[in-house]
Amino acid sequence: MKNTVGDFQSPTFLVRYTSFVQFPYTVKRSERARSLRLSVLPGGNVVLTAPVFFPEAHIQEFLQKHSSWIEKNTQKMRSVSVLPVSGRRAYLAHREKARAFIHERLVYWNQFYRFTYGRVSIKNTKRLWGSCSRKGNLNFSYALLFLAHELAEYVVVHELCHLKEHNHGAEFWKLVEKTIPEYRKRRTQLRSIQLG
Ligand SMILES: [Zn+2]
Repeated sequence: MKNTVGDFQSPTFLVRYTSFVQFPYTVKRSERARSLRLSVLPGGNVVLTAPVFFPEAHIQEFLQKHSSWIEKNTQKMRSVSVLPVSGRRAYLAHREKARAFIHERLVYWNQFYRFTYGRVSIKNTKRLWGSCSRKGNLNFSYALLFLAHELAEYVVVHELCHLKEHNHGAEFWKLVEKTIPEYRKRRTQLRSIQLG
């Protein structure tokens, strides 16, 4: 059975089902691969990177051997959704819009908190939505633009509150809670989102 998965357009990416291995997987043949590398992508697709001439039979054996690991991680990654933006191009295209948006939201929320912050930088970060330095400089991912509005608001408030509390202790969460009472829910939602 032939199919393309997710973002993969290359004909080397084929979803396979066999009687031997009881789950769909994709084999990516790589010139640079020296051994087998297994990964589960957000959404739950199983991808195996293999050296170009690695025998198919051994691949199936390998997959079967690791089936419980695969099962566990597939379930975990199924709940992860991916934002359809990535790469330097997307970053450069959206950076200034993100900067304007984040500045505006910072000013808005800081009417309440009245903290002092330094430089605000818009970064091309994949795993980090925002951070706050000891000096009071704030960093945000440009991808905040693509989050649901309430999640972007949560990130802005979260980093603002780090200006006063540089940790995730009880006092920090009390500060966050003052403007976002349901912060726990938003935190959980944010955790299930990754950048592609
Ligand atoms: Zn934090």
